[in-house]
Amino acid sequence: MSDYVNELMAMVKAKHPGEPEFHQAVMEVAESLALLFEKHPEYRTAKILERIIEPERVIIFRVPWVDDQGEININIGYRVEMNSAIGPYKGGLRFHPSVNLGILKFLAFEQVFKNSLTTLPMGGGKGGSDFDPKGKSDLKIMRFCQAFMSELFRHIGPNTDVPAGDIGVGGREIGYLFGQYKKLRNEFSGVLTGKGLNWGGSLIRPEATGYGAVYFASEMLATKGKTLEGKVCLVSGSGNVAQYTCEKLIELGAKPVTLSDSNGYIYDEEGIDREKLKFVMEMKNVRRGRIKEYTDKYKHAVYTPTDPNLDYNPLWNHKADCAFPSATQNEINGKDAQNLVKNGVFCVSEGANMPTTPDGVNIFLDNGILYGPGKAANAGGVAVSGLEMAQNSMRYSWTREEVDNRLKLIMKTIHRTCYDIAERFGTPGNYVNGANIGGFLKVADAMIDQGV
Ligand code: GLU
Repeated sequence: MSDYVNELMAMVKAKHPGEPEFHQAVMEVAESLALLFEKHPEYRTAKILERIIEPERVIIFRVPWVDDQGEININIGYRVEMNSAIGPYKGGLRFHPSVNLGILKFLAFEQVFKNSLTTLPMGGGKGGSDFDPKGKSDLKIMRFCQAFMSELFRHIGPNTDVPAGDIGVGGREIGYLFGQYKKLRNEFSGVLTGKGLNWGGSLIRPEATGYGAVYFASEMLATKGKTLEGKVCLVSGSGNVAQYTCEKLIELGAKPVTLSDSNGYIYDEEGIDREKLKFVMEMKNVRRGRIKEYTDKYKHAVYTPTDPNLDYNPLWNHKADCAFPSATQNEINGKDAQNLVKNGVFCVSEGANMPTTPDGVNIFLDNGILYGPGKAANAGGVAVSGLEMAQNSMRYSWTREEVDNRLKLIMKTIHRTCYDIAERFGTPGNYVNGANIGGFLKVADAMIDQGV
């Protein structure tokens, strides 16, 4: 590791103690940028990375709410407004018991680079709460969302900060949040993305992250003259990203064989086809069930419960060609990465944010795996959020085909940017360097233009 990276990391750890995910995300970017700073020391002199690391603003607030039994609950709400050099803060809200400031800072930091790569004018932010929506009634969810927005509304706006969904925040939550914002501001605007189609949402937004991760994989494979046709694919997660990853994989003739949730995973050797995916979507999105139910209906599939004593995830230990981690951060460790390589996987496209640990990333890179890091591969979600913002500003909506074509073009452009930059800096095929340097340059130049 270079002296520059060592010094920077010592500073980050001293100023931001106890935030390992944030340190991990910063370190990966700093290692890539060391290559840029050798050729262009002016970016280092201007201390751009040191500035990007400090959020422009962090809002932390109390979220008190009364549930349907009359009980008082208190959660913590956050919004990290990381960087607005190239546009309003933009990024999702995560509702999950693991949410804390360090996790949101890592996500907001990643978002800055991701949003820059999309080619659209969006800054970076992230927010959320330690609220756990799992197993809660619609009424409880609504009350929590209303309480959360009762404070957040004064900090956001269509030209200031535009939240969207992330883990635990889907169409239902965006609806309740939007309803409360509208009530408090008396204003119908594009303040959130991921809205319902009848009230300002964009076609393809629910599909966008998953479709985008598959388009990115197709682009990576094309550099080796390959396609997804007939490829066996491991997919983790079973939420929005995993579902639409499977949908697009099936459409392109690939064969997804796994899905998971926090309790365990299913392996269907015959492949998850359209009908089985329809069952999963109904089960997850309407009944809010658990992935285990898959094996109640499709008896030949195997369910393996999560074993917290294992130091690897057996989901990543099946013979396959491609992997689409679409659950959460650090879900692939060094051992998992080794298992993937051993089982013949040659392409990994990340639907989740930072799902691979640094050890795992190095194993992929050392083995010449086509490895698309989350900030490039999963940028399709926020890209279509950007398209939703554009449609809201025009008070117009594009057709499905129009949005999908724009999404495809954006994913192609992101791939090209990463590929070309990796080559230009002497690390051909290293999409990590390509994404980090590519995402950084646009933000850095804007920050220099706008002064300290
Ligand atoms: N949460 C998604 C992400 O990680 C989407 C953010 C958005 O649409 O603003 O990029």
